[in-house]
Amino acid sequence: MKTVYLDHCATTPLHPDVLKAMLPFLRHSFGNPSSAHALGRKAREAVEKARGKVAALIGANAAEIVFTSGGTEANNLAIQGIARARKDRGNHIVTSIIEHHAVLKTCQYLERNGITVTYLPVDRHGIVNPEDVRKALTDKTILISVMHTNNEVGTIEPISEIGRIAAERGIPFHTDAVQSAGKVHIDVKEMSIDLLSISAHKFHGPKGIGILYIREGIKIDPILHGGGQEGDMRSGTENVASIAGLGKACELAKETVAVRMDEIRKMRDALEERVSAVVPGLVVNGHPLSRLPNCLSVSVPAIMAETIVRDLDTRGIAVSAGSACTSHSVEISHVLSAMGIPRETAQGTVRFSLGIINTPDEIEYAAFSFIEVVEKLKTLSEIEGSLGSRRCY
Ligand SMILES: *Cc1c(COP(=O)(O)O)cnc(C)c1O
Repeated sequence: MKTVYLDHCATTPLHPDVLKAMLPFLRHSFGNPSSAHALGRKAREAVEKARGKVAALIGANAAEIVFTSGGTEANNLAIQGIARARKDRGNHIVTSIIEHHAVLKTCQYLERNGITVTYLPVDRHGIVNPEDVRKALTDKTILISVMHTNNEVGTIEPISEIGRIAAERGIPFHTDAVQSAGKVHIDVKEMSIDLLSISAHKFHGPKGIGILYIREGIKIDPILHGGGQEGDMRSGTENVASIAGLGKACELAKETVAVRMDEIRKMRDALEERVSAVVPGLVVNGHPLSRLPNCLSVSVPAIMAETIVRDLDTRGIAVSAGSACTSHSVEISHVLSAMGIPRETAQGTVRFSLGIINTPDEIEYAAFSFIEVVEKLKTLSEIEGSLGSRRCY
């Protein structure tokens, strides 16, 4: 059975050109970038070339890019790094309630260590109000961290406005742009961003590699101490092959954003139209306009998303559930709760996330299958309901 992969917000397949860029460094060009001999210099050259490509994707200077082990480490480095470097200036961080756990759990960890955190609410579309950011700031605020694009519903946050407020007050501004790279335009200067996280595997690069952009002049403390690599910001021998792959992915991403995203948006819109027209009571989550072009989060009231995901999987369609089913109860995602989506609706949330590999035929098949699966489950749940049992399908 052919797989229709519609889970690109979870991870993406490695682009063949990315693999090609990586292979020499897994084979003969195995040098350590810190070594002075020819093999070392060749590895160093690859690392610096990749750094330039990453910088070009986000409008930064190469010297402002620090390679990390991915998005999680980049978020940790930004938040913990600022908290440590600025502890004499204050102890307050402003973030949002819909952040990825790599931000939320880091903030919660810091709360147990003397930091105060304000978690800003969102509206029903998942948008953070920049005025709420302004109001939350105190003379003790040392960092603002609000994600660029949300991974569950695709909402794009008003980052430029928040960046402007941060710049006015002279407070460092971090954004988790892991879901943005390769999908929407990013420019750290235009958007007044001081710290920005990216992860390669979300846009056709390898897993386990990412970057933190640190604007020149912003001081952070490293988390990893050792050989002093990455300008002493991230010690450890560089993951040369993955760095080369990330560089290639960034180069390809520039083209994708400019050329391919419109095709993906059209397929997404077609999918949205098809399922909205047929499934009664279906809710489309996220902002209607300010949303990632590849993302479609929908909620089907009174049906468990995990059952839909499992049934679609048997038809070769890979999607994600927006809630987790644990024995007899359903854990509702913090993002959907924050958007005020009722439990009954939120538990039936499915995320389709498209990519460059998808075709209009695949989308048609996914729409048809989704509709059929939901109709079957609705009938089943009505029978169950009349028997008075409520099972977590
Ligand atoms: C995937 C993701 C991360 C984590 O990145 P990893 O490289 O998998 O650690 C962080 N933030 C967002 C928004 C993500 O989607």
